[in-house]
This record gives sequence, structure tokens and C-alpha cells, in this order.
Amino acid sequence: MDSHESLLARQQADVFSELLRSSRRLAWSADRLAAERTARLRALLQHAAARSAGWKERLGDLDPSTATEADLARLPVLTKTDLTADFDRLVTDPALTWDRVRTHAERHPDGTYLDGRFRLVASSGTGGTRTHHVYDWDEWVALAALTIRWRRSSGAPDGLMASLYADSPVHISGALHAFFAGAAAAPARLVHLPATLALPEIVGGLNTADPDRLQGYPSMVQLLALEAGAGRLRIRPRWVSTSGEQCTDAVRAAVRAAWQVDVYDVFGCSEGVYAFPCAPGRSMHLPDDLVIVEPVDHHDQPVPLGRPAHKLLVTSLYRRAQPLIRYELTDATTLSDEPCPCGCAHRRIVDLRGRSVGAFVYAGGRAVHCMSLATALLADPAVVEYQVRQTPRGALVTVATNGPCDTGALGAALALLMRRSGIPDPDVVVRVTDRLDRLWSGKLRQFEPLGTA
Ligand SMILES: [Zn+2]
Repeated sequence: MDSHESLLARQQADVFSELLRSSRRLAWSADRLAAERTARLRALLQHAAARSAGWKERLGDLDPSTATEADLARLPVLTKTDLTADFDRLVTDPALTWDRVRTHAERHPDGTYLDGRFRLVASSGTGGTRTHHVYDWDEWVALAALTIRWRRSSGAPDGLMASLYADSPVHISGALHAFFAGAAAAPARLVHLPATLALPEIVGGLNTADPDRLQGYPSMVQLLALEAGAGRLRIRPRWVSTSGEQCTDAVRAAVRAAWQVDVYDVFGCSEGVYAFPCAPGRSMHLPDDLVIVEPVDHHDQPVPLGRPAHKLLVTSLYRRAQPLIRYELTDATTLSDEPCPCGCAHRRIVDLRGRSVGAFVYAGGRAVHCMSLATALLADPAVVEYQVRQTPRGALVTVATNGPCDTGALGAALALLMRRSGIPDPDVVVRVTDRLDRLWSGKLRQFEPLGTA
């Protein structure tokens, strides 16, 4: 079998040859995009019904050869719990069993291909339970092209980009970073300072690298803007982009105050939906050529464009190995088909809420980014769900596990992270439970800062 490096080089080359085709579709009219979606939907339904017992059952008597977007409303909603519980029956390749996929992901956190072609992305999100998304070769090529095609027209300056996401290739942002880092035709020179480092280390690394561009979780970018205001961070980025959680007004204001630039906010997720901004601000274009997105309310009933929706049901038109048809994303959004001043006919997310991970701030303004705590917790493969409550000098951590878990070691790892962030003598308690409290929406409240309980 080919080495990881040669597979990576070959797939990177495939992405850069796909890029032109993918970019051209940004200029398509709404009608042409709709026709493309219908054709791709029919092919997807045909493939899913023919190769997967679970999908054959779910599609019922729907005829793939004449199906339209409107017919999707007749099909059941697919939740993350369904996808995990019925994993083996919802893939179209019998080699992709839950046991194989999970074991491969645990043994190869470096992103090694499964069977020389599949890429695996873990989703722990704010939904609690961990699941795995499988991308076959061409599906990953389509996704990777999707994440960079918009940058050509965004006016982003050349020069060094600092990336501040989680560093683990098992998560989508880390996986894309690892994929593009070192690519001969990479979109930019990159320096990676994982959000899992203590804040003073990130500040020091940025001062040394002196990047022209910054990308990261909104809450991390906000902490850095505040560090700049305090004079500890001395970079002058000309372009800032965020994704992974809600970009609040406070984040935008902090960035503007620190560096006099506006934030480009991007929506991306492990399921493979990636919406891109055409200008700084809240508006993001959906990939209308590659996904169907249905805005719905609490009861999965359609919400008209222009009105706030409680959830999105996503049908990925380019994922075949593990089809996602009406997959529930619990992101509250408002979608719009109003023409965009930029001329792109792809519909837009005009408002996006929820999904804020944030940071715990302690006495003296010392902060620990929650993503760094999350990564330390998920480094233990026994941990499947967790909840972290901030306490005055540390945290109370509750974990649900699927095997033996060394809570002492886990607590020590978290305390070390806090000490490195400047919190003196942190007090961390870890306990194991078989049930975690859930929010009314069914979402697990993974991080609870002091004063919000
Ligand atoms: Zn636009």
C-alpha cells in the first residue's frame, strides 16, 4: 500500500484540480444550481437505496428516478443518535463497520487513511455523544475544495496565516489544517498554534510568527483581541476569520477595537456543510451546488426563508459512503434567498446562533479556552460525554465513559493546563456518572462558566 505521504500528496493534487470546477459553480444562476441539486439528489437516492439496507428502509416507496427536493419532506429525519446506533446499516460499503471505523480512529489520531482511501472525522460538537463521519476519496476532495474556493475572491491578503483551531486531526478543523499544511499549492503559508495551548504560549507564538492573517474559534480570537488591547499581543493582522461557534457582537467589537478590521465568519461542520462569507459580517453563502438545507422548527416543520429556524436538516449531495439525508443539525439559523450584492446566487445564512464554547475567566483575568479543556478530556478514549462547571479556583468535571477511566490522571491533566494558563493552585475534581443533565433542547451543556448555573 502507498505511504501516508504519497496518498496525501495525490489527494492534495486532486483538490487543486477540482478547485477550478468547484469555483466555477459559484457563478451559476439559481436555476442552474437547482437543476444540479435535483440531478445529484436522484443519483444519491439511487445509490443509497441500492447499497444500504438501512437507507432502503428509510426511503420507503420514494422513486429515486423522479424524486425532487420537495419529496424530501416525506422522509424521516436522521439524528446523530440514529446515525451512531444504526451505523453499519447506514453506510453503503460493508467494509465500514462501526467497530472498524471507531477502532481505526482511536488507533490513528494522526488522520491515517482507512483502507488507503477513507478519511474519518469525529464529531463531538456540543451535542455530547461522539460519532464518526466517513469521507471517501472524492468526497474529501469535494469538501476540501469547498473550504478554499471562496478565498480567491474574498480579497484576503497573501502572507502568513495563523490558525488557532484544535490541533487534533480527528476533528474537522484540525483535519483540514493537517491536510492543507505542507501542500505544495496550499492556499497560504500557515503557522498553527493549537487552541489547546495555554493562552500565554499562544500569545508568545503569535508575537514570534507575526502573521498577516488570523483564523480561529470566535472566543479564542476575542481573547487574543483583549490580549492585544492589554499590550501583551503585538501582531497587526489585516484579515481575521472565525468559525466553529457563534461569532457574537462582542467578538466583532473586540477585533475592530484591537486591529481595525471586520471579521469574516465561516460556518463549517464535520458533516461537510461549509458556508462562506463574501464580505465581512453575518452573511454566509451555502454551498447550494452540493447540499440541500431545509430550515425547520422544533417539530421538524418547514420554516420559510427569512424567518428564524430552530434547526437545519441537511442532505449532502456529495457524500456517498455514508449518506446523510435529512440529517439534523441543531444550529438555530435564518436563511435567505434575497439577492446578494456580490452577485453570487447561492443562498445565504443571514443569522446564526448557538454553539458558543467560550472560555472560563478567573481572578486576575487569567483565562482557559474551553476547547483546550475539551481536547484534554477527549484524549481519553473512554470519555464519551462530559460536562465542565467552572468553580472559583478550578472546575468540577463530570464524565460518562464506555470503559475504565483514570479520573485522577484526567484531573491532573486539566489542572496542569490551568496552571500553564496562569491559574495558581487550580482545584479540579473529576467524577464519573452514567447520566449527564441535558438542556431543554436536548443539547448537552458541556461548559458552564461561573454564575450561569
Ligand atoms: Zn454574497
